[in-house]
Amino acid sequence: MLHPLGLDTPWAGDGPLASVGMEAHSVARLPKVLLHDHLDGGLRPETVVELAAAAGYRNLPQPDAAGMRTWFHQAGADSLEDYLGAFAHTFGVMQTEEAMRRVAYEAIEDLARDGVVYAEIRFAPSLHIAGKMTRDDAITAVLTGMAEAEAAFGTPGRVIVDALRDRDDSVEVAEAAARFAGAGVVGFDLAGPEAGFPPDMHRRAIDIARHAGLHLTIHAGEGDGVASIAGALACGTERIGHGARIIEDTTVREGRVVGMGPVARQVHERQIPLEICPTSNLDTKMYPSAADHPIGMLYRAGFAVTINTDNRLMSATSMGQEFALVAAHCGMEEADLHAITRTAVRVAFCDETTRHAVASRVG
Ligand SMILES: [Zn+2]
Repeated sequence: MLHPLGLDTPWAGDGPLASVGMEAHSVARLPKVLLHDHLDGGLRPETVVELAAAAGYRNLPQPDAAGMRTWFHQAGADSLEDYLGAFAHTFGVMQTEEAMRRVAYEAIEDLARDGVVYAEIRFAPSLHIAGKMTRDDAITAVLTGMAEAEAAFGTPGRVIVDALRDRDDSVEVAEAAARFAGAGVVGFDLAGPEAGFPPDMHRRAIDIARHAGLHLTIHAGEGDGVASIAGALACGTERIGHGARIIEDTTVREGRVVGMGPVARQVHERQIPLEICPTSNLDTKMYPSAADHPIGMLYRAGFAVTINTDNRLMSATSMGQEFALVAAHCGMEEADLHAITRTAVRVAFCDETTRHAVASRVG
């Protein structure tokens, strides 16, 4: 698929920005805070190929990194289901502690080079126990890799543990996450298909996570609309993963939000942060073009908007590119992006010491 910036190979961050103008180029260099990024959606294609070779994994659809880079980017061309199907080849090669540790380390390294000064990275431990690892082993390996990368590159990384809505092991996942509360795991999330799997199916898991002191975010308003966001709010979510479709509970006139329904009003009044992932939403065909994405309207209407990558590999994106995209197409200026980053610092799930340190780097 064509990248929203009209460019073809935009994985590494700064190369394609040369052609989108000085303003977009300069916003890409701002310090950035990332709250919604999937570990198994952000591998380097080279790493996928090397890990597959090391593990004897023979299912990759392309033999080399260049082929895999293009394949991952095109894999979700038709639907959210196709997009999610591409993950089989990333978690497929992430079945050892060494693989998890390497992927986590490289994620923080890549983000630090992209100007990210704090990152919350999420993953579903249950997708990594096909070999010898337990969920706890997988979490430990990721935390180790992220801590090593923080020491090397200066960007703190924290973990959000995902349970999957369509599986019945969310209690075990929450119990594993709870054992790492205060030790690098800061949040619990429900991911996976929204339609047919409401979050209140996982109330017990949510209670376990909250009782352990973990924060809660829930994917909603991506695959399903306003009702899904309402369901996440009813489960006490502190942030909403994606949430862009809250725009469907507003009245828009001439590009401005002029009225709100009950769910939008609640999200707005309570300033529930929206973890919006613009390029991901374009890739899954939520909006036909960047100019149609509602992030600018939501921001200007006073919603607590944040900007995120979701899956850097599958969406061939980076935080720098997300900033450049919304600057070029959604009416965002440098001051707006700085304000959005300050919002992200304020609603990050980290402890206050980390928050202060990150805030001083953001300015
Ligand atoms: Zn996501």
